[in-house]
Order: sequence, then structure tokens, then C-alpha cells
Amino acid sequence: MLTIVQKENPVLRAIAKEIPIQEITSAHIKRVIRDMKKMLKTQPDGVAIAAPQIGESVRIFVVSGKIFEESWQKELVLPEGTAVQTPDLTFINPRILKLSKTKKWMHEGCLSVRPLWGEVERSTNATVEAYDETGKKFTRGAGGLLAHIFQHETDHLDGVLFIDHARNVAPGQVPEQAAAPKKSREPKSPVKKSTIKTKK
Ligand SMILES: [Zn+2]
Repeated sequence: MLTIVQKENPVLRAIAKEIPIQEITSAHIKRVIRDMKKMLKTQPDGVAIAAPQIGESVRIFVVSGKIFEESWQKELVLPEGTAVQTPDLTFINPRILKLSKTKKWMHEGCLSVRPLWGEVERSTNATVEAYDETGKKFTRGAGGLLAHIFQHETDHLDGVLFIDHARNVAPGQVPEQAAAPKKSREPKSPVKKSTIKTKK
């Protein structure tokens, strides 16, 4: 059965495999991408997913098209039955080409680390090079949420979870403010991993 694996699962700690270019359009990779999109759609608060999160240790992540919708940007949740106009974006063998020196502490959660949230210092702008579903190489620059997603998802492909470098990790919802004020790097969160419990 298709599920989102949780943080104890070793697949989340493996370095995901690069996909040979000629295999990008293979039935197997097509199925993985289809399953990732299907799974992402079942998560109302999910904005992106990496292949290891469905148990597939390959270098792919998918960003939900809904983040580009005006209605979602206003409410951060879409009313039931809303049709999303923007297709999901698929990044195969992504490589971060550039990260801005400007960083911000951003609130962050993860479909595989429920129900925890924390603050992670992320670059405000990022550029990624990747292949699309047809095997074509492209480059995409982003700021704001999409830049944040690029960093969280490429971490997944390298076996890194946000709790590895987050502070103030605690269960719950996203606090009101989008991001904490910019500060110099601070020590890691004092929360011990052994005390962290997941809900799902
Ligand atoms: Zn995640």
C-alpha cells in the first residue's frame, strides 16, 4: 500500500540514487512520479514530496501546483473540491546550482516528521538544475516558498531531515509569523531526538 514513510524508516536516511537519463521515461520512474503526485494530493498541508518519502530511493521531488494558486496563497489551504490549475512540477536528479547568502530562519514541517515543526535557517533564493519527466534538462530559480522547498527536498535526497538542523522543534501548527527575524546562526535546538514522537 502506498504510504508516506515516517522518520524512523532507514530509506529516509539513505543517499537516493541518481536516475540514468535513459531511464527517466521508463515505466518504473513514471510509476514512482505518478505515486508521488497521488500521495501529495492526499495531504492538504503538503506542498512537496521527495521519492524516499514513498519508500523509493531515487532522486526525484515533486512540488504541488497549488502553491502557485492565488486562492491557496491567501488561505494556505484550498476549499474542498477546488480545481488546481497549475500542474505539479517534477524535478529529476535535481542539483542546487546557487543559494543566496541571505538566509532566514523559516518555519518548517515535513510529511515524514509529523507532527513536528521547527525553525530552519534557509537561503531566501535558490537555483536548481534538474530533468523534467520527458528527460529534458531545465534550470529554475526561485525565492520565497519555492526556494525553501528546493532546499528541504534536496536534503531528503541526501538523507537529511529538517530536524537534523532545526531549532525550537515542537509538535503543532505553523505559528502566525511566516519566519523568525534574521539572526546569526545559533546552536542546534536543545530538543533531544530521543524525546521526539511522531503521530503517524
Ligand atoms: Zn520533508
